[in-house]
Amino acid sequence: MRYISTRGAAAAQDFKGVTLTGLASDGGLYVPENWPAFSREDIAALAGLSYVDTAVAVMRPFVSGVLDDQALKNLCEAAYGQFNHAAVTPLVQLDERHFLLELFHGPTLAFKDVALQLLGHLFEKFLSEEKGQDLTIVGATSGDTGSAAISAVAGRAGVQIVMLHPNGRVSEVQRRQMTTVLDKNVHNVAIDGSFDDAQAIVKAMFNDSDFRKRHRLGAVNSINWARLMAQIVYYFYAAVRLGAPDRKVAFSVPTGNFGDVFAGYAAKKMGLPVEKLIVATNINDILYRALSAGDYSVGNVTPTDAPSMDIQISSNFERLLFDLHGRDAASLAATMAQFEQSRAIQISDAMRQQAATIFSSKRIDPDEMAATMRWASDKAGQVIDPHTAIGLAAARETDLPKDVPVVTLATAHPAKFPDAVSRITGKNAPLPHRLADLYSREERYVELPASRQTIQAYIDAGFQL
Ligand SMILES: *Cc1c(COP(=O)(O)O)cnc(C)c1O
Repeated sequence: MRYISTRGAAAAQDFKGVTLTGLASDGGLYVPENWPAFSREDIAALAGLSYVDTAVAVMRPFVSGVLDDQALKNLCEAAYGQFNHAAVTPLVQLDERHFLLELFHGPTLAFKDVALQLLGHLFEKFLSEEKGQDLTIVGATSGDTGSAAISAVAGRAGVQIVMLHPNGRVSEVQRRQMTTVLDKNVHNVAIDGSFDDAQAIVKAMFNDSDFRKRHRLGAVNSINWARLMAQIVYYFYAAVRLGAPDRKVAFSVPTGNFGDVFAGYAAKKMGLPVEKLIVATNINDILYRALSAGDYSVGNVTPTDAPSMDIQISSNFERLLFDLHGRDAASLAATMAQFEQSRAIQISDAMRQQAATIFSSKRIDPDEMAATMRWASDKAGQVIDPHTAIGLAAARETDLPKDVPVVTLATAHPAKFPDAVSRITGKNAPLPHRLADLYSREERYVELPASRQTIQAYIDAGFQL
């Protein structure tokens, strides 16, 4: 399998190349040169397979030429063995047609673990084959992504991770999930500034090409193809359990970056009978405006109870736009150049109609979100987190045929957002057993000013102050 850049000016690469590169050198995103096709028989053959065996079958075509089945299986066993549920991503039935797909049984209680745990093992394997310099992953986090990324690479050979968070501005659960990871290759930095300051510093470090080369900087954000690939698996896993290939299934996906729902699009392109993908946004609604009215324009970010969806630029949307442009990279590159300049593009009616054959979209406001959390708690006995509630609210408003089961992706464990959960539902969401002592664990992090020079000096000095 070869991967091409959406903007057409970077060399095609194999799976190993795109995993280690992340963003293409022309600023585009890597996509498979073509979608692997699964026949009815291929899908029927997934019935009853374990999560790991499903993962091997679904990801096999994407890694061909780089990993054989046994190597892929070993990596999946290492990654998904860390999950706290034997089914890895179990389905829970809420009423006659609605289901939750629980993606939060990984080490940091959010769906990002599904992809990042595998990515950590892929990095270790590929870097050990090269025997080159360590990869230094740098990132900025407002909470969720940081802990999932740290957990994914903690203790992995050949990788260092430096994670910046705004001092005093992430919740205690989120901070502790990062700072209590004491492996030698994990470096938490609390900066005296905001999340935007942290992000700007990371961006500036990447733009300093000497520094970037000196430390072989890498990123783990959701533009990395390997992350999306790992997410395709659970669409197959859930749909097969609900009757695919003989029955169509719809999915409702709470999204901000268009990452998770793009994986569902890939599953459909591969032949999974997906009736519809419901793109659920909160009031930070660029994706809703784009899909319902063609208005892809950046607004201001309003903080909500679903902070992981408080996003105004959906980096993975470019991958869909590439297909909507008929995979014409030159034309897409021109569109993206216009977007980067004016922060707004209008999607043509023809493209929007094409997207509407696969996607619908709903924007969920805070009242609907809260009502859905209460419905789930009172009527279905499930305490759900605010992100999941946005997906479920959109699912419950669907006008799809009644016989189509609708699966909402449950993206975070309610214990990650205890304040919102108890305020809205009156219920407590206790931490799962293995995190129960989180508040008494030793923490380690350094506090630094929001200065790129100081942070680079800290990294240059081998993580010494
Ligand atoms: C990251 C995240 C999302 C959004 O994921 P996308 O990559 O934007 O699709 C939704 N819910 C939770 C809990 C998350 O952490």
